Amino acid sequence: MATVADRWGDDARVEIWRDGEPAADASCVMLWVQRSQRARANPASNLAVELAKELDLPVIAVFAMTPGFPSATLRAYHFMAEGLATLPDDFAARGIGWQLEIGDPVERIPAAARKLGSAVVITDVNPLRIGREWRRDVADALDVPLVAVDGDVVVPSSLFPKEEYAARTIRPKIYRVLDEYLHRIPDPLPPVASSHREGPDPLAALDSFDLDRSVAPAPDRHGGSDIARDRMRTFVAERLATYHEDRSRADIEAGTGLSPYLHFGQIAPMEVALAVRDADVPQEARDSMFNELIVQRELSINNALRNPDYDRYEGLPDWARKTLAQHASDPRPEVYSYEEFDEARTDDDLWNAAMTQMIHEGFMPNRLRMYWGKQILRWTESPQDAWEIAVRLNDRYFIDGRDANSYANIAWCIGGRHDRPFGPERDIFGIVRPMGMGAMKRTFDVKRYIDQVRSRWG
Ligand SMILES: Cc1cc2nc3c(=O)[nH]c(=O)nc-3n(C[C@H](O)[C@H](O)[C@H](O)COP(=O)(O)OP(=O)(O)OC[C@H]3O[C@@H](n4cnc5c(N)ncnc54)[C@H](O)[C@@H]3O)c2cc1C
Repeated sequence: MATVADRWGDDARVEIWRDGEPAADASCVMLWVQRSQRARANPASNLAVELAKELDLPVIAVFAMTPGFPSATLRAYHFMAEGLATLPDDFAARGIGWQLEIGDPVERIPAAARKLGSAVVITDVNPLRIGREWRRDVADALDVPLVAVDGDVVVPSSLFPKEEYAARTIRPKIYRVLDEYLHRIPDPLPPVASSHREGPDPLAALDSFDLDRSVAPAPDRHGGSDIARDRMRTFVAERLATYHEDRSRADIEAGTGLSPYLHFGQIAPMEVALAVRDADVPQEARDSMFNELIVQRELSINNALRNPDYDRYEGLPDWARKTLAQHASDPRPEVYSYEEFDEARTDDDLWNAAMTQMIHEGFMPNRLRMYWGKQILRWTESPQDAWEIAVRLNDRYFIDGRDANSYANIAWCIGGRHDRPFGPERDIFGIVRPMGMGAMKRTFDVKRYIDQVRSRWG
């Protein structure tokens, strides 16, 4: 029988983690759901169905929920578990079985594959270090092949094998192939339906996890693919047409609010891109959304995949670290401790309001995140401290934290990642682009935003 590399090795969306032939006398094809936490518009599930058709087997989806994900608090786990709770029924509607494992994927996934008698394990692609280490270690522990499918990007990441330096370098490469890849993802059914359903309710299982519970679930944002798709449809109907004009405003809801759903793979970026492409809106609106959803997002993913230090200060561009070092001893207007940032106790009302929204709602609008990050550089003793504090707060409070977007954007704020040197040279920032209150006031009604946050959270 052909090996998995013979079958799919040339497919730009496929990563072969362990080659070999599908196991003989198998009982199913196992889909290891990790990043693409959805039952529809899921390319990994479709590869599993393709193989299941050839082998005349059922497909069983397995998720391993591990208690120890770095920096994840109850808020992030709760949002993820709300989405996972919908998956048994969603997969059943496609005739795909479901199993929830509790524990480290590196142990639970190979054990489940053995117990279920899987011919091959098929999973999704994850650009982050921990996700890649999991795949490597699972591949080592399996007796059968492991294949990953890149379904959480529009254009496969393998087409950009080198580190891209800015949106302007990746954009033309994306647009050159966009028509080839921007297509509806079908939801084919396996030849043999599975009624397999095993494992606890994910929300109930969280009760036994040793988690940081000081960050509560966000009151108005609930996880799940149906909620994500409703949010997408509302955005396209009500806000997309003016997105290019309003996207930087914090005093109105201007964006999709989909970043938490994209982070947990509860919706595919392809679904959003197609809804935007097909909407009857001005071309500027469509271009503006494609620039964020496809160009900026896939640039962040390229950074995580191709820059080995993507989540460390050392991963910032040389020119930025050099200029920041030259200005390391410049006097700061204020220096705040981690605790003062964490409790929104700076002397800046806008920054405090943004931090308050982040603490309570797990979210912050687009442009304001830039201001938030740039001020941390201004108000800490060293750029290294700024990096540590920004990453820690980002990953602790945002539902969409711990994402490729988190690290690329904090790197943009603090160290000019995906930006250019920006003169004239200034205190503290050197030639890293600064951003102050003036830029915020030109973009939205700052007082109105502060009042809105105060009326919600005091
Ligand atoms: C300091 C800082 C920290 C950030 N931390 C995160 C984070 O932890 N997780 C996260 O997903 N995003 C992060 N971003 C990027 C961006 O601010 C959010 O993705 C966006 O605000 C989410 O709101 P939305 O879904 O309404 O976006 P929309 O405006 O509706 O955009 C649609 C989608 O495009 C993508 N997108 C938008 N802006 C960017 C961008 N600048 N870079 C990459 N992709 C983008 C997101 O996936 C977003 O959901 C950060 C930005 C900054 C400056």
